[in-house]
Amino acid sequence: MEWETVIGLEIHVQLRTQSKIFSGSSIAFGAAPNIQASAVDLGLPGVLPVVNQAVYPKAIAFGLGIGADISLVSAFDRKNYFYPDLPKGYQITQMDKPIVLGGSVEIPLDDGSVKTIQITRAHLEEDAGKSLHEEFIDSTGIDLNRAGTPLLEIVSEPDMRSAKEVVSYARYIHQLVTYLGVSDGNMAEGSLRCDANVSLRPVGSSELGTRTETKNVNSFRFLERAINFEVVRQKEVLESGGRVEQETRLYDPDRDETRPMRSKETAMDYRYFPEPDLLPIVIDEAFIAEVKKNMPELPREKAERFQSDYELSNVDAKVLASEPMLADYFETVAATCSDPKLAANWVRVELLGRLNKDSIETSDIPVSSEQFGLLLLRINDQTISGKIAKDVLDALWKTEADSVDDYIDANNLKQVSDSGALEPLIDKIIADNPKQVEQYREGKTKVLGFFVGQVMKETSGKANPKQVNELVRKKLS
Ligand code: ADP
Ligand code: MG
Repeated sequence: MEWETVIGLEIHVQLRTQSKIFSGSSIAFGAAPNIQASAVDLGLPGVLPVVNQAVYPKAIAFGLGIGADISLVSAFDRKNYFYPDLPKGYQITQMDKPIVLGGSVEIPLDDGSVKTIQITRAHLEEDAGKSLHEEFIDSTGIDLNRAGTPLLEIVSEPDMRSAKEVVSYARYIHQLVTYLGVSDGNMAEGSLRCDANVSLRPVGSSELGTRTETKNVNSFRFLERAINFEVVRQKEVLESGGRVEQETRLYDPDRDETRPMRSKETAMDYRYFPEPDLLPIVIDEAFIAEVKKNMPELPREKAERFQSDYELSNVDAKVLASEPMLADYFETVAATCSDPKLAANWVRVELLGRLNKDSIETSDIPVSSEQFGLLLLRINDQTISGKIAKDVLDALWKTEADSVDDYIDANNLKQVSDSGALEPLIDKIIADNPKQVEQYREGKTKVLGFFVGQVMKETSGKANPKQVNELVRKKLS
């Protein structure tokens, strides 16, 4: 039996505010335990939460960023459960009326295409505290500094079909929230954490299989591994005639496996009800317009502009606009060489190909966009051929060179377009290969390629291929 993998992702993004979502405590990272926990965060009796107004523009900016509906009225709910790091006995979250509804993103895939991932909702909530198991013998420490940290939980539809797609989606969201200033995106500090819901179903089936939820994965690499582990595990369970248990699991990076944590609760277990201590959130159109005014150009707006201004194909435009840093890079390359289509082609094929192959992030491209653009300019002004340009790019990539022009000069790579230099060489090659000349004259014009190839070989690829073609043809007839 062939199985199809189905994955939906929940991403918890920490919002970039000064203080917590319902109290004035700082959320700065790294403070000594429980220094940043006020009476509200501790859940002491008699205290009341007050919403930090700074969370609204962040949630709205994200919603606009994914083309979602912003709820003009949304509300907080209580999710009740017992855990030592949750002194109130409930988490304030949004269940029935989230602030962001719907929306989608277009993610680039490895094969160069783009895929649309639908987003179900994004809602505001508070983080819980942290249990410290390692520091103590025979006991567990509780640090409530993190309790009440503002989060936006982004829930996707089960639209992803492989760990690779999930990582591409998570990277996209990470870039978007960082670019919009919604979050600092610091994954090592826990600012973006993923819960991966994974299930399998027979290929061709339209029903969803039973899923497991692997919680709190805080790196893209672990996310990919955790999902791949789950896929193999579930397949083994199903193929040995068993049933996948719906449960919450944990990924252990040291052993590279997921382990059951608890059986899955349902919404019923949490006894959700409207938070009586907080009024509904009411947002008006003017406020949304104000947020929009202060936002940078969004990936989807960029893609449209790339299509209309640079006449790029739909896919080229979407891929290049998908990451702000990549988009900026492309625009500098295009401006430097004055040939947006050539720039789009080279950035997609040569740049992205190399980034992919060497696992390099867009923030760490070893070649400046100016030099990349200059390289393409040197193709267009016939200084070098496209083939030589790839060699130059390899040298720049390995940082063996930092200037395109210096490297071309130093290695004597200038294209030979001087017919005075090419003609004697062509004459010699024709004289040395009478058999091929005969074939050509008998009508086998395909041997033209042989002569051009010989010239390119003799000039180490530096001859202008178009010109060689013309010269050889002229001389043979
Ligand atoms: P809960 O809040 O209990 O975790 P939700 O229904 O809100 O459950 O779903 C959470 C996430 O799980 C969503 O991203 C959704 O797309 C995904 N999901 C739901 N069912 C499945 C399934 N059978 N296989 C894979 N993902 C699923
Ligand atoms: Mg969940």
